[in-house]
Amino acid sequence: MTEKTNRSKPAPRGRTASSIGVGRNSASKRRGAAPKAASAAPKKGAPKHGSSRGPKKTGGPKGRGRAHAPTAKLHKRPPKRPTRGTPGAKQNADELGSPGSKNRVPAIKKGALRIIPVGGCEEVGRNMTIFEYEDDIVIIDMGLQFPEEDMPGIDLIIPNIGYLKGKEKNIRGVIFTHGHLDHIGAAPFLLDRLGYPAIVARDLTLALVKHKQEDYKKGSAKNLKVIRVGNLNEKIKLGKMKIGFFQVEHSIMDSMGVTIETPEATIIHPGDWTMERDTEGKTNLKYTELAKLPSPRILMLESLGSLNNNRHGTYEEMYKNLYAILAKAEGRTIIGTFSSQVERVKWVIYAAAKLGKKVALDGYSMKMNVEIAKKLGYIKEPKGIMIDIKEAHRYPDNQVVVICTGAQGEENAVLMRVVNKIHRHIELKKSDTVIFSSSVIPGNERSIQRLKDNIYRQCDHVLHGDIMDVHISGHSTRQDIVEMIDQTKPDYFIPVYGNHFFLKEAKTLAIEENDFNADNIIVPDNGSVIDATKKGLKVLKEKAPSEYVFVDGLGVTDMQHVVLRDRQVLAEDGMVVVIATIDTKTGRMIQNPDIISRGFVFLKDNKDLIEDLRDKVKKMIVASDPATWADTNQIRNDLRDKVGQFLFSKTEKRPMVLPVVIEV
Ligand SMILES: [Zn+2]
Repeated sequence: MTEKTNRSKPAPRGRTASSIGVGRNSASKRRGAAPKAASAAPKKGAPKHGSSRGPKKTGGPKGRGRAHAPTAKLHKRPPKRPTRGTPGAKQNADELGSPGSKNRVPAIKKGALRIIPVGGCEEVGRNMTIFEYEDDIVIIDMGLQFPEEDMPGIDLIIPNIGYLKGKEKNIRGVIFTHGHLDHIGAAPFLLDRLGYPAIVARDLTLALVKHKQEDYKKGSAKNLKVIRVGNLNEKIKLGKMKIGFFQVEHSIMDSMGVTIETPEATIIHPGDWTMERDTEGKTNLKYTELAKLPSPRILMLESLGSLNNNRHGTYEEMYKNLYAILAKAEGRTIIGTFSSQVERVKWVIYAAAKLGKKVALDGYSMKMNVEIAKKLGYIKEPKGIMIDIKEAHRYPDNQVVVICTGAQGEENAVLMRVVNKIHRHIELKKSDTVIFSSSVIPGNERSIQRLKDNIYRQCDHVLHGDIMDVHISGHSTRQDIVEMIDQTKPDYFIPVYGNHFFLKEAKTLAIEENDFNADNIIVPDNGSVIDATKKGLKVLKEKAPSEYVFVDGLGVTDMQHVVLRDRQVLAEDGMVVVIATIDTKTGRMIQNPDIISRGFVFLKDNKDLIEDLRDKVKKMIVASDPATWADTNQIRNDLRDKVGQFLFSKTEKRPMVLPVVIEV
């Protein structure tokens, strides 16, 4: 007996279901009665604008409904330990802009500064910008992005470095503006692939990058070539590019802005930034010096605040609030924040110390970041104030402050575990005070709402930025953006580091409030290639590769889009396995075809549908005369297509169809 199954097992697990295939999942009512027309409204997570984001060209994750198209590796599993090759799917070499590509970006002309934001211009995260002048390349930031809800099984997304293929030797340095993950998180993966070009940053950022690198591959941190930025007034040369730095305010220590001077143009790039103000609205920092840099000046401005009309609280206010909350708390205080909000953690530790409370940190990255900041002298903790989370129960509740990760509703973060009652040492009590001390990352709204609901059920004191100003956003406001443009007086404005709508809003703001000439503003997409010369800026029609590169499981994969698409199809509409057993000699069907389904429709309630389907399969096989088959591939593909069409016509669902032909 030979079994030809497109190199897969027909029905992973659950073969116990009878051959009529009673699906265990009754997903049929999931979407209610409303049939899902093929042309229905865009799915959640679909790109909000007609950009080239994501793996669109391949039909990508969004291109569902092709489950029954002949995809040879339909259910090939991603390798557990993927080969660490060049990021970006090999099979999509064409899209990577590699030689031979139709959409190849033309070589840079002499006398131009090329600017390519390869990530961070259509999302919040995976920030990375390439600057190329003659034979020299400088990169700002290598961030990661967390996956969206329509990317099952994906851990991280990192920038696409297809453009740098073959140009690795030209990379003079990678500058990290600060230590947040959306700016350094992809560094270990990418530095490794790019042959460890020099990295440029201030102390805390360097320490964090080093730690990430070592975490990624033991012993690899020693490969890092470090250019330490000690004094922000010093300038360095990276190839022919002159690099300067300037102070910015942001929610992690050692944040800095960057300037890049070339004979053709000057870049001003603050990284993430905000303008701290006192209660009168006066700022601490002035950026007017930057207006003295040579023209043409191009301001590349992180524009997440372009819709934020609020005034930020000041640090004094935040500290006073935190202190008051800690003082008032009758039970434990549990603070959820980002692990990288080192500055905020410092405030809490200091306030707790004043009140004679103990602080326990939880979350691997939280502890690690605080450890690094302590080593560098950024946090000077009073003796005896830190306790182990395991010991927290030994202290009276009102003396315990827990700082943990998970304010964004991340699946496995500490706060989530506490709320789901799977944390080993902490369970919420009614008397606890829970504080969310970080702003919502766009895209995380729903998980945060669920998290909040859960916390409100379990405890009576919940505080977050909406109720009390416990948080200072690390990002600017509309007013700040206008002032930044006003102070730096750029000739060109390129809003970056945010979803497209943030960037567009920043453009409008600059036109309306700064009287900026609209022709001198470019809202880039990921992969836009902008050539700057003294004469002006030109956006090429070709784009550099910017498709998602996924980190899946233990490493970077050459994750094929088809795998992700399959996961989406399975998650959406389930699967149907059709098993036909044929006598090789006579070509007859030995028994009625078996139909098994999972997550598609509840078969018991759909007996007619299954009978019709069985009939259809039988007729198809008889009509195709199995005795004349050269190989079963053709019939399988045929089955897949026809069964798929049939099921769609009956149910408007597109389950993954796996035809199995058994010849005996
Ligand atoms: Zn940041």
